[in-house]
Amino acid sequence: MTSDSPSPDEPSSAWRPETLAVTVGRPAPEVDAPLNTPVTFASTYVGSADTTDGSLGYGRYGNPTWLALEEGIGALEGGRALAFSSGMAAAHAVLELVPAGSTVVLPFNCYLGVAAAIDLRGARDGWTVRKVDVAGTEAVLAAAEGADLVWIESPTNPMIEVADLPALGAALAGRTRLVVDNTFATPLLQQPLSSGADIVLHAVTKAIAGHSDALLGALVVRESDDATFRALEAVRRSHGATPGTMEAYLALRGLRTLPLRLAQAQANAGVLAERLAGHPNVRRVRYPGLAEDPGHARAARTMSGFGSLISVDLADAAAADAFVAATRLWVFATSLGGVESMLERRRRWAGELLTVPEGLVRLSVGIEHVEDLWADLAQALDSIS
Ligand code: PLP
Repeated sequence: MTSDSPSPDEPSSAWRPETLAVTVGRPAPEVDAPLNTPVTFASTYVGSADTTDGSLGYGRYGNPTWLALEEGIGALEGGRALAFSSGMAAAHAVLELVPAGSTVVLPFNCYLGVAAAIDLRGARDGWTVRKVDVAGTEAVLAAAEGADLVWIESPTNPMIEVADLPALGAALAGRTRLVVDNTFATPLLQQPLSSGADIVLHAVTKAIAGHSDALLGALVVRESDDATFRALEAVRRSHGATPGTMEAYLALRGLRTLPLRLAQAQANAGVLAERLAGHPNVRRVRYPGLAEDPGHARAARTMSGFGSLISVDLADAAAADAFVAATRLWVFATSLGGVESMLERRRRWAGELLTVPEGLVRLSVGIEHVEDLWADLAQALDSIS
């Protein structure tokens, strides 16, 4: 190491994501002090008569364990992060910034909780809500005309459509607040702030935490956008939608291995998507890594990988239910982004959007051996014919 190389305990902006993931959020090194930021259980902190600057003050205002996680997510996204108690708490904090009478653009297909929240707030606060196909850049831009907020999710849950984030970001810059839910791609595959997004949302619950054991959310804004950061922090403070310290600890621990987990899950997904596409009981595979997928060229241009989520269309709801029930290794569960492979028929939820086909099964590919995963899918698919 040369004398001007950064010390291993001072994260450098030049470091690659794999290095940042391991190093961010660590305390300054001290002999016999913990290498990693420990869990701090505190509802309040000892005050100082001299200053309130930089002090945490009270447990709802800040916590050293959240700060470490925020440093990690912020470093990977290239911005400043705020952690919330869940992805939905983070989503609601953004919606709190939208005044009554606003016009909001929302994807036809996106996480059902966000769609429901926007419909609810829209009805209450007299918003005009314009729904769009995120893959149709011209249509999104037309709908964004005069809008106060454009909400994009890409790739979308559960239809796996891909938006042209650089084109949207460039066209909307300075005109409309652009929010991107980056849960599916993770900061490793795309960094929406660098494409012009104003706010990035993560359901940290998913790939970042990565072990299906913690609920958490995060928002990330540009380093220079102090006004938005402060406004979102004020909402968190006022609503009390704060992360649990144990959850924040688990999520930072998960983030350390995100690059490794994502690499394995994504490699598995690529193999499984090809094989699923060749199975006679599968009508359609939705995965941008497949050359025939409508989002392939765009994802190849704008993302640095195709991710670990695949959706497949089977004949109908009955076929999809039978397929899900027949798997043994794949877990029938509604989450995604964990180390374990999970699947579910999305329309089993009454709130799922009607644009999602009845026979669509979403697969969250984990890090198990790909041949074991395929053997289980193949026997389950064979069993429904
Ligand atoms: N955004 C996306 C894309 C999601 O898939 C989810 C949950 O599934 C959320 C947001 C909400 O996150 P949480 O469940 O942590 O509230």
